[in-house]
Amino acid sequence: MYPRIDADSDPAALDAADPLAGYRDLFALDDAELVYLDGNSLGRPPRAVAKAVAELLDGTWRTELVAGWDSWVDLPTIAGDELARSVLGASPGEVLVADSTSANLYKLAAAALAAATPDRRVLVTDDDNFPTDRYILAGIAEQFGATLRIVRTDIDTGVDPEAVAAAVGADTAVVCLSHVAYRSGALADMERISAIARDAGAFTLWDLCHSAGSVPVELNRCGVDLAVGCTYKYLNAGPGAPAFLYVRKDLQSRLRQPMWGWFGQTDQFAMGPEYRPVEDIRRFSVGTPPISGITAVRAALEPTSRAGIGALREKSVALTTYALALIERRLVPLGFRVATPRDPNLRGGHVTIEHAKAWQISQAMRRAGIVPDYRAPNRVRLGFAPLYNGFGEIARAVEGIADIVASGAYVEFDDAVSRVT
Ligand SMILES: *Cc1c(COP(=O)(O)O)cnc(C)c1O
Repeated sequence: MYPRIDADSDPAALDAADPLAGYRDLFALDDAELVYLDGNSLGRPPRAVAKAVAELLDGTWRTELVAGWDSWVDLPTIAGDELARSVLGASPGEVLVADSTSANLYKLAAAALAAATPDRRVLVTDDDNFPTDRYILAGIAEQFGATLRIVRTDIDTGVDPEAVAAAVGADTAVVCLSHVAYRSGALADMERISAIARDAGAFTLWDLCHSAGSVPVELNRCGVDLAVGCTYKYLNAGPGAPAFLYVRKDLQSRLRQPMWGWFGQTDQFAMGPEYRPVEDIRRFSVGTPPISGITAVRAALEPTSRAGIGALREKSVALTTYALALIERRLVPLGFRVATPRDPNLRGGHVTIEHAKAWQISQAMRRAGIVPDYRAPNRVRLGFAPLYNGFGEIARAVEGIADIVASGAYVEFDDAVSRVT
């Protein structure tokens, strides 16, 4: 499919051989010259999203008014089933689109802790997990009288299954980790770690924010109990689009989430006196679902679904392989260090490079029309979205970074890090 890739590859030949090249046209590209390498923070807008949301706002909402709820009410599970099938390796009825990743993590971790036997009061995570995950787990530990045990992880190589094995035992209720590390892009061994947690009698809870839509996720095959993730990164559903949650089928009736909202209620519109949650995935809903957001999730998913996660992963590996080859040749001699695993089987869709002046360099990159992310400490993160990034863009980005560093153009930027990075 893709010709052999090294630093001498011709980017135009790689783009010409790319079977997914045509998908770029499905996105709104106001500035086609802009090299946008931040789709793992906020995906570019698929044209179909604006159209689908406009049809809701100017169409169904206006014409049907409150009667629209007859069909809208099922959208959280319809969109959930679509995500389950195309990117999560889950079964119908196991995924719900709702709330934010943070809120879903809270609901599922608290539900799992409550369902664990009383002698299991330990939540396990790692020190490189995404901040919201660590804070939410710490909050749950404090609110429900549990203990948060934090495994040490190398921030470049990612979570070590042996370290997880050493941290779990007869006292463990939940093991919560990220599938792809937000900083380095390291890909965790979901199957092995889930087996370790299961053998110890603990529930597994995976955060899929950086893997959904980029790396094949096989929740059923890996025997995962619970998972959460967002839709605005590789899934391109837009800023603040609703997140998803997954609960393995046979656990659904056993788990009770901490927020007893009316959308989880049996016979909701009977407005009954007490909370009796439905038996299925909808018991993890809380309140009125965000219909415009779910409409965006469904429209945004269509190109991903059509391309297929296998083909997307193949291109993603080709993109990161090419980027690393060029970084090795052009940027390592200029003082960069690669902070992402070299083995493609051990990384997700982004590449992180470290440099003492990373913050200033990332600002100079933006001015030069190359959009990266800065991540503490001293890292420039380059995200490659296989639906719209190409090989020519990578060559331009690496040359652009080399120019900025070789010319010293970054020194004029403030070295005080801003609030949003
Ligand atoms: C982006 C991201 C989040 C974001 O959570 P929100 O509730 O949407 O703010 C959570 N976890 C990981 C691993 C992320 O990368």
